[in-house]
Amino acid sequence: MSPSLTGKVALVTGASRGIGRATALALGKEGASVVVNYVSSTDAAEEVVKEIGTDRAVAIKADVSKIDDIKSLIQQIVKQFGKIDVIVLNAGLLWQNGALSNVDESAFDKIFQTNVKGPFFLIQEAANHVPDGGRVLLFSSSLTAVSIITPNYLLYVATKGAVEQMTRVMAKDLGKRGITVNTISPGPISTDTYFVGKTEEMIKLQRTFAPANRIGTPEEVADVITFMASDKSQWINGQNIRINGGMTIVTRTVMACVDISGD
Ligand code: NAP
Repeated sequence: MSPSLTGKVALVTGASRGIGRATALALGKEGASVVVNYVSSTDAAEEVVKEIGTDRAVAIKADVSKIDDIKSLIQQIVKQFGKIDVIVLNAGLLWQNGALSNVDESAFDKIFQTNVKGPFFLIQEAANHVPDGGRVLLFSSSLTAVSIITPNYLLYVATKGAVEQMTRVMAKDLGKRGITVNTISPGPISTDTYFVGKTEEMIKLQRTFAPANRIGTPEEVADVITFMASDKSQWINGQNIRINGGMTIVTRTVMACVDISGD
């Protein structure tokens, strides 16, 4: 089968590590030209570019929580590629200390700027450069739908709830041009950040959230995104795609999770 994304230009925010990295590589494998955005990991971003091929990929440093950086990022992409067919708004902060009593104003602003304000204004800035039939994919989390949520995730899921509502309404707006807007909502995925602050016991428990008794991989999320980026996903619009191996249907261990649930 020929690659499904030949001739398309894809921007993946936060593509130096984790799910963003796997996504950039998967889109590149399907023939897309890929912009590998990052904020600090220059070497890791350049490695991703090298793996895709320097003829089709470029690394661009930009803090996508800041409007000036967003403007500069979009300008550089348009100058080099002329358009952006696929926008994957993967960059985000996973915040596990967001309980009501812990959060101060600067923590609140930082996570909302990265997870909500950045994606909002990036889409606004890029919209005129997305051809009809383009794709926008935002990022939430399966935590917005599970009953095992614990108080420390208050701030994180507040940002992801906002993303889900932005998706629903933007889909109506951009959908007039055949541009689809959807949310990707992973369950626990084995990125470096996922493991930070978690004991072996917590990870073991979180494996049981899925009937297959394991957590997901960045590549499993990237595979779904590759389909969503293709022409074959045209009739999926305004939806929340949960990629979690069945996590939300698990009802056992609820009480055991009170102190150790995680993303
Ligand atoms: P990760 O491993 O922490 O990687 C984060 C990536 O985002 C890095 O490439 C980082 O760049 C980049 N980044 C962070 N802040 C940025 C900014 N302001 N501007 C530009 N780039 C920025 O994250 P992940 O675990 O792959 O998660 C990716 C997305 O999936 C997030 O939106 C997260 O909420 C969501 N999610 C993850 C899980 C999970 O279990 N992993 C579950 C549900 C949802 P540098 O390397 O340059 O710092």
